[in-house]
Amino acid sequence: MGEQSESLTPAKGKAGAGSLSLSWSKTVVVIVLLLIWVFAPWVLPAYYLTMANHIGMVALVALGLVLMTGVAGLTSFGQAAFVGLGAYVSAVLSTKFGLSPWFGLLAVIFMTLALAFALGAITLRLSGHYLPLGTIAWGLSLYFIFGNMEFLGGHTGLSSIPPIEIFGISFKSASSIYYLIWIVLFVAMLLTDNLLHSREGRAIRALKGGVVVAESMGVNTARSKMIVFLLAAVYAGISGWIYAHYQRFVNPSPFSLHIGIEYLFMAVLGGAAQVWGALLGAGVVTLLKEWLQDLLPRLMGASGNFESIVFGLFLVLLLQHSPKGLWPHAERLYRRIIAASRSASPESRSSGLDTRAAGVITRFPAGLGHSNWPVSTLPKRAHQLSADAGYLLRAQGVEKRFGGLIANQAISLELRQAEILALIGPNGAGKSTLFDLLTGVQTLDAGEIFFCGQAIHGQTARHIAKLGLCRSFQHVRLLPEMSVLENIALGAHLRGTQGPLRAALHLERLEERELMREAAEQARRVGLADVLHLPAGSLALGQQRTLEIARALAADPLALLLDEPAAGLRFGEKQQLADLLRALRADGIGVLLVEHDMAFVMGLADRVVVMEHGVVIAQGEPAKIQQDPRVIEAYLGVDLE
Ligand code: ADP
Ligand code: MG
Repeated sequence: MGEQSESLTPAKGKAGAGSLSLSWSKTVVVIVLLLIWVFAPWVLPAYYLTMANHIGMVALVALGLVLMTGVAGLTSFGQAAFVGLGAYVSAVLSTKFGLSPWFGLLAVIFMTLALAFALGAITLRLSGHYLPLGTIAWGLSLYFIFGNMEFLGGHTGLSSIPPIEIFGISFKSASSIYYLIWIVLFVAMLLTDNLLHSREGRAIRALKGGVVVAESMGVNTARSKMIVFLLAAVYAGISGWIYAHYQRFVNPSPFSLHIGIEYLFMAVLGGAAQVWGALLGAGVVTLLKEWLQDLLPRLMGASGNFESIVFGLFLVLLLQHSPKGLWPHAERLYRRIIAASRSASPESRSSGLDTRAAGVITRFPAGLGHSNWPVSTLPKRAHQLSADAGYLLRAQGVEKRFGGLIANQAISLELRQAEILALIGPNGAGKSTLFDLLTGVQTLDAGEIFFCGQAIHGQTARHIAKLGLCRSFQHVRLLPEMSVLENIALGAHLRGTQGPLRAALHLERLEERELMREAAEQARRVGLADVLHLPAGSLALGQQRTLEIARALAADPLALLLDEPAAGLRFGEKQQLADLLRALRADGIGVLLVEHDMAFVMGLADRVVVMEHGVVIAQGEPAKIQQDPRVIEAYLGVDLE
């Protein structure tokens, strides 16, 4: 228990004595950076101040792309068009209609949301490279619209745009708008970071692991994609709004596809999955480009766009060497500075808390994790069974074909409450296919499936998960960079209700605390309590399988479908798994389990279903199955004892 409570109290326990000095050195770094930021306009030469403003504006666009491309895995080449939309909408409203830029801002937000919603509805459904191609298509169209509309000034553009003003202060000069730009950027970064560390954020991060897992956890992936797309578009639109009122004129050239590609460069180069990576990428790309533009013509003795070539080569080399971009390097450097300042202060020796999961740790509710640690107050499923003869899950005549191959034929089986039902059969018998049909991951060709008396054939994976039929996958499907705790919390997705806006403002902390409690509780239940904050990808395969069970349990399931959960487990671990499954059975959960280890199955299961070549060849109690001649034949050479 001692070990457990230590690992469950990261916010207090682990940080412990070291936390003061840790936050001390962090505070120093933050104060130094803040001072640099505040005084920069006073000390920076005009050229660099302009550059800083430019970096701030493009970083806002890159931030949206980090969210889209880096976090959610949706590539967009078209963000420059949203910047253009923001710039033009406010430019037109202020120059042609004399409206205040603040009204322009509202219009920009509204217009980018509306356009992004329409474009997203069409393009986000595209898969593979069709999505990036789609973004290129609308990126190009908007660019040509900007250039070809008389109303928008054609290629000459619009001039005499008024500056932004508030309380009589005009953001006209480079030094005044500097503060506006960077405050907007920092606020956006904070909101984004909050969002990423919430239930909605986990759903967004789950998109990268594939739609199947996310939907099986109950995530509405279309919605999550749309949230990310809208947010990225609004960031780009706001960046364009600032740009228009800062430059005081707009023409189409800064909103071309070429610039759209540059934004993508920034997001990828900075470190595509990191909020701070956007800033780093924007800074490096902007400075490098300026520097190369100066240097190269002098070196080559001729003018031309040499920087694009050098820049492209540099990017290819960098990504080959460091596919996660520059941010991991920057992070290491930062950690070294912190460590150096820490060793300078004598009383401090803290454990290495600053891992990737650190963001989670700091948000993990303090005071959790002692022996009297309260169980979460998340809503629980009413464990009432319908009149379906006591069956939780009932499949009848289920059939699935892959071309000419009949993977499942006339499969009928029932899973009762508080029962462990084993599904066995040689490789390729069709067991995993049956799991996919039962959980709505694949659609069946014929047959019926009922869960708690309700027909679920033809329903989506999300809907089925919602009813309480949850699963693990034969090929482990976790989000390797997310912590164990967050992976489990993803399973509890449907038990929370707080949306993205509240998450961005961090108003969902009460619910978030309950979700984390629930995840920690499930981790404890399966024996993962001392690895809560490790990245899931760092666990041994056996533990990853166990993690999948915990993730399914976090959904408060009525039935669990486990596809080869014991594969890769050592003997002792198998015994623990068997104990866990028995405990789940005692809690009333129905467990359907695929397993190859006969000794394990026969000692554990209440009943066994045997499949071969897509059909059920026998079912019944373990003792009976072991005597069945057809089963013995199917398992020729395998000892059933
Ligand atoms: P098991 O889990 O019992 O080992 P599977 O259900 O994975 O078996 O596979 C059953 C059969 O269906 C195999 O012959 C497999 O090659 C085939 N199969 C499974 N999934 C697909 C698919 N998506 N497309 C085509 N064939 C598939
Ligand atoms: Mg299988």
